[in-house]
Amino acid sequence: MANLYYCSDGSRVSEAQIKQKYSVAIRQKHVGQSFFTCQACLKERAVDNSHIISKARLKQLHKTELIWHPMAFFDSCRNCHNCWESWKSGDYLFQVNIVTTLKYLLQHDHESFLKRTEHEYDTVEKNQRLLWAIRNI
Ligand SMILES: [Zn+2]
Repeated sequence: MANLYYCSDGSRVSEAQIKQKYSVAIRQKHVGQSFFTCQACLKERAVDNSHIISKARLKQLHKTELIWHPMAFFDSCRNCHNCWESWKSGDYLFQVNIVTTLKYLLQHDHESFLKRTEHEYDTVEKNQRLLWAIRNI
């Protein structure tokens, strides 16, 4: 019996269903595009789809349907993907899409939003950038 993961409406989906729905969402998001620029730095070529909230976390939150929601992930270069995940360094705060990603986190994963926004970062610039981003949400 395959593992099933909960969606917000109480329905459950298998890993195979998740993969299928996610691959459709990626294709729909990229219709007519052949080259992807990283949405976090607007410089590098995107090689990943970076989930704002990780797929494992979405399953844990019983919001599995967000894995294939078009706003849940963005085209990303490897470096920006790592920056977003290794958030304690604060480097992610300088990403171009920081207001969008923090806003998404606030809406869908309040606990993770608080972890990032109540954290004391190691430079004045990072803490100022965080305040700026929060004001713009
Ligand atoms: Zn990038």
